[in-house]
Amino acid sequence: MNVQVTTGSGNGSEPDTAKYVYLFTEVEEAERHAGNWDGVRGLLGGKGANLAEMTRVGVPVPPGFIVTTEACNAYLEAGEQFPPGMWEEVLAAVKAIEEATGKEFGNPDNPLLVSARSGGKFSMPGMMDTVLNIGLSDEVVEGLIGLTEDPRFVYDSYRRLVQMFGSVVLGVPDEPFEEVITRQREKRDVKSDAELTAEDWREITDKFRVIFRKNTGMEFPTDPFEQLKMATEAVFKSWNGKRAVDYRNAAGIAHDLGTAVNIVTMVFGNMGDDSATGVAMSRNASTGEPELEGDYLINAQGEDVVAGIRATKPLSNLKTVMPELYNEFEEIANRLEAHYRNMQDLEFTIENGKLWLLQTRDGKRTAQAEVRIAVDMVEEGLITKEEAVRRVQPAQVDFFLHPQLDEEAKKATEPFAEGLNVSPGAAVGVVAFDADTAERWAKEDGKKVIMVRPETKPDDVHGMLAAQGILTSRGGRTSHAALVARQFGTPAVVGVSELDIDLINREMSVGDLVVKEGDWISLDGTLGLVYVGEMPTFVPDINNPYLLKLLSWADEIRKLGVWANADYPRDARRAREYGAEGIGLCRTEHMFFETERMPIVQQMIMTKSERERNEAIDKLLPLQRGDFEGLFEAMDGLPVIVRLIDPPLHEFLPAHDELVQELADLKIRLQHLDSMAAIEQTLDDIQVKQRYLERVEALHEQNPMLGTRGVRLGILIPELTKMQVRAIFEAACRVAKAGIDVHPEVMIPLTSHVNELKTQQLALESVAKEVMDEQGIEIDYKFGTMIEIPRAALTADEMAEFAQFFSFGTNDLTQTVFGISRDDAEAGFLVDYIQKGILPENPFASIDPNGVGKLMDIAVRAGRETRPDMEIGICGEHGGDPKSIELCHKIGLNYVSCSPFRVPIARLAAAHAVLNEK
Ligand code: ADP
Ligand code: MG
Ligand code: MG
Repeated sequence: MNVQVTTGSGNGSEPDTAKYVYLFTEVEEAERHAGNWDGVRGLLGGKGANLAEMTRVGVPVPPGFIVTTEACNAYLEAGEQFPPGMWEEVLAAVKAIEEATGKEFGNPDNPLLVSARSGGKFSMPGMMDTVLNIGLSDEVVEGLIGLTEDPRFVYDSYRRLVQMFGSVVLGVPDEPFEEVITRQREKRDVKSDAELTAEDWREITDKFRVIFRKNTGMEFPTDPFEQLKMATEAVFKSWNGKRAVDYRNAAGIAHDLGTAVNIVTMVFGNMGDDSATGVAMSRNASTGEPELEGDYLINAQGEDVVAGIRATKPLSNLKTVMPELYNEFEEIANRLEAHYRNMQDLEFTIENGKLWLLQTRDGKRTAQAEVRIAVDMVEEGLITKEEAVRRVQPAQVDFFLHPQLDEEAKKATEPFAEGLNVSPGAAVGVVAFDADTAERWAKEDGKKVIMVRPETKPDDVHGMLAAQGILTSRGGRTSHAALVARQFGTPAVVGVSELDIDLINREMSVGDLVVKEGDWISLDGTLGLVYVGEMPTFVPDINNPYLLKLLSWADEIRKLGVWANADYPRDARRAREYGAEGIGLCRTEHMFFETERMPIVQQMIMTKSERERNEAIDKLLPLQRGDFEGLFEAMDGLPVIVRLIDPPLHEFLPAHDELVQELADLKIRLQHLDSMAAIEQTLDDIQVKQRYLERVEALHEQNPMLGTRGVRLGILIPELTKMQVRAIFEAACRVAKAGIDVHPEVMIPLTSHVNELKTQQLALESVAKEVMDEQGIEIDYKFGTMIEIPRAALTADEMAEFAQFFSFGTNDLTQTVFGISRDDAEAGFLVDYIQKGILPENPFASIDPNGVGKLMDIAVRAGRETRPDMEIGICGEHGGDPKSIELCHKIGLNYVSCSPFRVPIARLAAAHAVLNEK
């Protein structure tokens, strides 16, 4: 326990006690005790720390104090006992705010009223709600009526205290209270609460106290200090409430942080027409536009604005109604923005023409607003370019790539529920409560479906694949649902603990709101929100000028190049538009899969005659050349790495089972034919299928991923890779003659021994030279290899004698390092491993730093020993993953190559890698 002599808290006579209470004026002491601002937030909670900080910088905050998170923890540890000295400190702090306000707690002639507000380091649902108007009793009420001459206001305040205290502190349900008000309205034959009189509120207060007694077995405590004590204890206890614990579990927030209690002098926005209350954002939270935005109500209390009982007015109206107060507020908002160097979310109250701030915190905003605000703040001189880049997370760039829920629609709709934002983007569809229904509705009826489950399991994957979005009530960031959703890029919200899913009655509910199977819902996977209904969506603009500016700053910072994986000119052009500085991987076999080429490719594989095979290969040559020409043109001036054929040949032939089935069908048909011509035709067909089947069987391998593929194919059928190299160089020479600046790099896949490289590369280089001689032009080119087998990585020094560049194929490398089949990974034991914590994360999503990463590091060092200026990159899917990008930066790669869509994310992540190093 920390030992500190306290000032102003009156227990200086017990120097051995920790300090549990800080006045809003004592933020410096809190900082001394806690070390830094982060520590202050931990000690005082976010809300309290900011109230104290605002007080320090001269913003009008009603006097108050904070009972610390340490007090909360001590209270809970001691079995719900205040730690020694704490209550005395509270009493002393009450004295201090009495002095500051000139009022007295419990004194009817000049009463001090306070609110009790919870607030941990991170704001989280499940914590205790605020209790307002603490300090009212029968005598105080009488006195206050004399002072304010407004009995209606006083009784309304009193009944609010009884109601809030009952429901928040003691868990009395709200309905009986609401019922009383409704009946009073009926009795008076009025429509709104505003029409109820002072006498009505007095009667209501009496009835509330009866409800209180019936539900709690005790009288409503009219001793203000008793109220304060019970409220404080209730806040402490709420830290261990079920919802709070569930939320922390799901969100990965530590359980030992504790919550603070903020005791704040009440100010009243409901004291007449020169009083008001409202909330505001210092900038537009959806677009980031630099304009104050908010809502307010004249003659109302704070909760009325949030609860939406009365229609609020836009803050801009206040400019005309109370111009001076508006200007003062605007000035404070700007000052706080400058102070925190961030957009602020503010609560204010105006009491009889005097402005008070009741809360400030960094405002929640969309990714679009985040980007704009970061850029604007640089231009306003508030933050540096580096800070702007650091502020925007790579995942937020994702926002610009996925459909999103329409902002206007979101503003007009209350979320149905909130959970963890585990996979970004919007999804809109009808609810299906199991995987089979989800799949059937999606596939057979063409419906858009959101699959909703308490949690998901491997045998739900077919439904998850068919669904637009995934929603679960349980599970955290590494739950099965979260992992699979991210893997497939499906928007998902998980861990919605307030959601009750009734699989028997096929419905789900939050409180009274029920959604049945087949009803429309909308998910915001970016923010973790669930809405009822079918909301409109839009696709944000990746060419957003603020994003472009931010990315250009990221480019100034980053050291890694960002290239793209692209097989077609169209993809290459897009990649370039997004800022790609080269093509790190063009997969030539994708070109083989096109319908008009498949027969030629099959002919090449099927034939036993060398002549026929070469004929087929010759037919492929001009087609491939055409592909490469387009690619080189699109990438004018930039390097293009073309990978030679990689997959096992059987992938180009029909599946074995299919052939067997077709053969069986043909043979049955044969028995029913009588026309000679038809019989002959069928016999021919059978013969063809038979040949395919034989070839497929001959090519069959137990482990095709470890079989005849990559460089092994090139060595087995040298004509094939020679044709590819000829196509590459003929294309390069042609476009070069047309004035294109071309830099082809030929990449040999799956090498494991230097002799493979030697054999293949030397043969291919002579083809390249031959073509350039024929064409009479010299091209700048490289030959190199993929590093995707552990042996290649370990012998990189030998490899580098031939290879002029390396590119890590981390999909295969991860597969071979772990010995885990990447194609079975998602549905199999790997997910289970991650959930159990056996593996910290999916190594196919993020490079395993200690195994695969280490091997890469070895290969980089060894390769550069032989060839110091060796160009080294990565072309596996990890190339677009921010964590993996950081690793690539650390081990000194020259570039990462990823899918065109991830290029902007990679640019930002590469800059973050540099900034994180500092
Ligand atoms: P939340 O975390 O839910 O926003 P708050 O503690 O901020 O809860 O309080 C709820 C409402 O009560 C807010 O509108 C706030 O401005 C208002 N409020 C809290 N304390 C006071 C006070 N001392 N005087 C007037 N209004 C208050
Ligand atoms: Mg608040
Ligand atoms: Mg590979």
